[in-house]
Amino acid sequence: MGSPHPGRISDVRTTTVAVPLEAPLRHGNGVHPGYFVRTLVELETDEGLVGLGEVGGGGASAAQAIGALRSALLGEDPYQLERLRWKCANPVQALYVPLHQVYAAIEFACLDLQGQAAGRPVCDLIGGRLRDPVPFAAYLFYRYTGEAEAGGERDGETMVAHARDLVARYGFKTLKVKGGVYPPDHDVETMAALRRAFPDARLRLDPNSLWSVEEAIRVAKRCEPIGLEYLEDPTWGMAGMARVSRSTWIPTATNTVVVNLDQVPAAVAMGAVGTILADPHFWGGIGGVRKLAAVAETFNLGLGMHSGGELGVSLAAMVHFAAATPNLAFACDAHYHHLKGDVLAGEPFRYQDGSLRVPQGPGLGVRLDPDLVAQYAETYQKLGPYDYHQDPRRPGWFAVFPGETSRYAVPGS
Ligand code: MG
Repeated sequence: MGSPHPGRISDVRTTTVAVPLEAPLRHGNGVHPGYFVRTLVELETDEGLVGLGEVGGGGASAAQAIGALRSALLGEDPYQLERLRWKCANPVQALYVPLHQVYAAIEFACLDLQGQAAGRPVCDLIGGRLRDPVPFAAYLFYRYTGEAEAGGERDGETMVAHARDLVARYGFKTLKVKGGVYPPDHDVETMAALRRAFPDARLRLDPNSLWSVEEAIRVAKRCEPIGLEYLEDPTWGMAGMARVSRSTWIPTATNTVVVNLDQVPAAVAMGAVGTILADPHFWGGIGGVRKLAAVAETFNLGLGMHSGGELGVSLAAMVHFAAATPNLAFACDAHYHHLKGDVLAGEPFRYQDGSLRVPQGPGLGVRLDPDLVAQYAETYQKLGPYDYHQDPRRPGWFAVFPGETSRYAVPGS
């Protein structure tokens, strides 16, 4: 049990790290070229506690943004989350900088501090451990070949082999494919191959909004006999998503066209989407996705979990939220199984039957391993940031919506 109060924030530290992936991950808008860059946030208090947060990216986009808030944070009480939210992420200021993501990292750290002081896990501060373990999906990518011959998925046969490996190792029951790299019919063939290999699995396909509405409707019709639990962002925009949603029984999901509460009324009125994918980073922390969960419950929208390539600190925040949110009924997305390492001490997250246990300890229930943080901070110094929207093996290429045949990778490549 900690002290009854976490104290006041007395120091703010950030460390940007790069953690290698087993192989580069391809998607409709580019490639994760073999590592994820994240910035770790440590809020220390005058009671000697340290709360952990994490935000995507490095350099100007994360560490500097949090550094700029240092004077706003020092002396603050980690329980005063609304005060901190308005101080750090005023929506007008957020028009210029993604402050809701920066605030999310601060909020995770404050909840971690609250939990440590109370001697309770974060899930107990937000509704309790309703779901434990938390189911996750196998996030399947077409991958370039990485070290140790990992990767090389380019069609149904190779994707099935990759899925079999992950299912054998981690027990996943839901398989999500990141499509949009190859022409749409190639993705349909991959999904059909997965269905033949895994007759009972829940399947999802996400081409990152790349297809035209007409293409998306045609693909959805081809996917109907395969059976998908949802088609994620088949096209861009709410009106486009509404036209697709009206044209197929396959439910639609999004993490791109409904990204704040202000967009929900229009999405509901238009019938744009069946399921909204929560992401505590994009929605301004666990408090933000809890509001989304309440709105989804009100309108009977589905609720899932988006993954932005997080490390263990963010994953802990996601797992605590998922544990305490009744209507988060879909298996969560995570890139975690693609990572070759993490920054946490003691490997708190190990998949079993496709699920992760909620950390037992107080707060987020995870601690940094200082040696691993130092190692991956050095890796970041060596590798630097990367542009998510490029494919290093297709120089000069960039995604255009809707994808024309000429912009897709040639099947087999
Ligand atoms: Mg998506």
